[in-house]
Amino acid sequence: MNSVEEIWQHILDIIAQTVTPTSYNTWFSDCSAVAIDDGRLILRTVSDFKKEIILKRFGESIRMALYDIFSADFDIVMLVGDEKSPIELSPRIPTEDYTFDNFIVGPSNKFAHAAAVAVAKKASRTYNPLFIYGNSGLGKTHLLLAICEAMQKKDPTIKVAYLKSDEFTNQLVHAIKTGAAEEFRLKYRNVDLFLVDDVQFIAGKEATQEEFFHTFNNIYENGNQIVLTADRPPMEMMRLEDRLKTRFEGGLIVDISPPDLETRTAIINSKASSLGMVLPPECTDYIATNITSNVRQLEGVVKRLTAYRDILEDTITVDTVKRAIKDVIRIGEYIPTPEIIIEDTAHFFSLEAEELRGQSRFKSTALARQIAMYLIRKLIGMPLKDIGSFFEDRNHSTVLSSIRKVEDMVKQDPEIAATVKDITANIHSRN
Ligand code: ADP
Ligand code: MG
Repeated sequence: MNSVEEIWQHILDIIAQTVTPTSYNTWFSDCSAVAIDDGRLILRTVSDFKKEIILKRFGESIRMALYDIFSADFDIVMLVGDEKSPIELSPRIPTEDYTFDNFIVGPSNKFAHAAAVAVAKKASRTYNPLFIYGNSGLGKTHLLLAICEAMQKKDPTIKVAYLKSDEFTNQLVHAIKTGAAEEFRLKYRNVDLFLVDDVQFIAGKEATQEEFFHTFNNIYENGNQIVLTADRPPMEMMRLEDRLKTRFEGGLIVDISPPDLETRTAIINSKASSLGMVLPPECTDYIATNITSNVRQLEGVVKRLTAYRDILEDTITVDTVKRAIKDVIRIGEYIPTPEIIIEDTAHFFSLEAEELRGQSRFKSTALARQIAMYLIRKLIGMPLKDIGSFFEDRNHSTVLSSIRKVEDMVKQDPEIAATVKDITANIHSRN
């Protein structure tokens, strides 16, 4: 069963068995299926009256039939007359399991949580933009997508744009190259909800910031909601233009810090029970006291434990937990590749990776190249001759002098120090 027509016919067959033919004809002879996506079935009928009756009398049966087919909950969107389908207007953003229901609230995140809930309920116009910041793995993306989930649920026709990290830049660069800058601009102008995850990635990129500024203003002036996340507050984004800083600070800024012991325990238990597992209290305690700064790692350990239980049919003991923690921490020690370092450094300077690898003597290209060499050495500890192999000028002494130069500049020039710090943070937040 693939097409929306087939699905709808299947549902109609089920309904037909429960009502008289007259009643069936009255309500369904002029009701058709328009589209389906991963959470909405779009139907069309001819009047508001029919819409209301169909939803009231048959809504539940339709939803149940959809559940039987897809094992997932669907919203039913009923269009009247020639109303436009929201699927053409706005594809539904998949929010996975990120909801308010499974977000554990504690002192470290209660302010961010409350603000996110208020935004989702449209309780306050003043939380615009809502700016959520905090270290990696503390629930920023979770809250962002929970807002999205709640608002899409309440109004399945809402237009949402969700941009991950440097997608905005990539799309913009692409749009400019293909002469589609104007369409790019229009694309985001009319969204009801604009979500940008890891907005720190735009710092230092002039063209992106310019475009982002206009997009932001358009959405804001239309009275629509903006939510941003980042790894640091706007004030600490060194290479962010002042006018953007001002915009980002114009709504509500909330931070998320690492959860306290009690919250960590609650998160572990909640995660375990959602995976169908009950952990012995001494195991929960061991995890909660040993993993303190990252919820993603807490989750990782619990997931490992379910795997051990399933694969090894082991009973979970503190020893099993120790092994799981070792695995997760090892995986968690993120070591970037030289390619990623080159790419992120190039991006930061609005260059292509190939330009950075090349031999251009333009001042900013040369500086970017030197910084990339420096970071490959510093973050990976790669031998000089190996570093050279990633660049066209593979001379060992060029690499050495580049690294020395950046080392000096970092000590003497706060601007360069900040640049290096920002690029490093970008690289790490890919983890
Ligand atoms: P960030 O975007 O801040 O790096 P994420 O939102 O991706 O972090 O969170 C990392 C993982 O931890 C996700 O799987 C998320 O569901 C989970 N998580 C974070 N905070 C909580 C919380 N308070 N309750 C439940 N799960 C959480
Ligand atoms: Mg995130």
